[in-house]
Amino acid sequence: MADHYDVLGVSREATPDEIKKAYRRLARELHPDVNPGAEASDRFKQVTHAYDVLSDPEQRRRYDMGGDSGLGGFGSFGDIFETFFGGGGGAGGGRAGRPRSRRERGQDALVRVALQLDDVVFGTHRDIEVDTAVLCETCTGACCQPGTQPVPCDICGGSGHVQRTVRSLLGNVVTAQPCGSCQGYGTVIPYPCATCQGQGRVRSRRSVSLDIPSGVETGLRLQLPGSGEVGPAGGPNGDLYLEITVANHDVFSREGDDLLATLEVSMSDAILGTTTTIQGLDGEVELELRPGTQGGDVLTVRGRGITPLRGSSRGDLRVGVHVLTPTRLDAKERALIEEFAKKTKAPAPRLAEFHQGLFAKLRERFRQS
Ligand code: ZN
Repeated sequence: MADHYDVLGVSREATPDEIKKAYRRLARELHPDVNPGAEASDRFKQVTHAYDVLSDPEQRRRYDMGGDSGLGGFGSFGDIFETFFGGGGGAGGGRAGRPRSRRERGQDALVRVALQLDDVVFGTHRDIEVDTAVLCETCTGACCQPGTQPVPCDICGGSGHVQRTVRSLLGNVVTAQPCGSCQGYGTVIPYPCATCQGQGRVRSRRSVSLDIPSGVETGLRLQLPGSGEVGPAGGPNGDLYLEITVANHDVFSREGDDLLATLEVSMSDAILGTTTTIQGLDGEVELELRPGTQGGDVLTVRGRGITPLRGSSRGDLRVGVHVLTPTRLDAKERALIEEFAKKTKAPAPRLAEFHQGLFAKLRERFRQS
């Protein structure tokens, strides 16, 4: 194979600009449109290949180091040629293939669904309004007036493409472009359906009945395949996505599948113990306070949390105890407490390790929300 520098007639030290100028001059001279004949055609191919290699700094470096072998040699040339000129086969031919179909997949639709925390415990049901494209009932997606049909486009002969010749630096370049008359469909619709203006679909508000599973959380997107809008010309439906928002609850918060709350108890209930009934998200729950309950103790009620999104075993309800210290005492109450303190010989305040327990975190959470 001839040396690329020799082919272009430049020195091995030629600048990129010199290489480009040499190539342009030779290409104008040897281009098959200008200079038919096998010899010119072969030289033109050589020139183009030499330029492809030497105009790419990385390829030029590799060529300088050891020739052309790393580049697939002349074998790759055909592709370059075809890409360049949209020749019969290869890349150019593929692009100018079949006419495109009017039928396309419809777009996905997104609907936001606002839930309360109690909707999440077991899941819930919603009927939501969705505004999307639906199939045109008049033409059932055919886009034509009933009794008529598309006819082949007489501009492109039904191929959907027209050949266009562009004058360029290298002579005439033939490219295939979508036919402007039929937009590349290869057919035209002489009598479009009046209901959908030939689109095969119409916009419509429809009600979608949804079963929202338990355990969902804010930001989750549920996908309903095929429930989005119908495609042009009755193409397959897109998907419907539900974006979930769960409102903050006044009392309960969530940690994984567990529900968290705080129980405020009087000092005497904490000391003596009691039972109390609280209102959970799914009905009443009985809680038992042992005598001597400490502030920060957590009462766990198994299986009264949230049903997970996948799986059936519910999380727990965890209730942190907050002991209310009396703040206003009358004289008699104060005397009783003083007597109590004397009697129990209550220990003096004592330093212990900082308690960063669950309940501390729990209160933190409430402070933030
Ligand atoms: Zn229609």
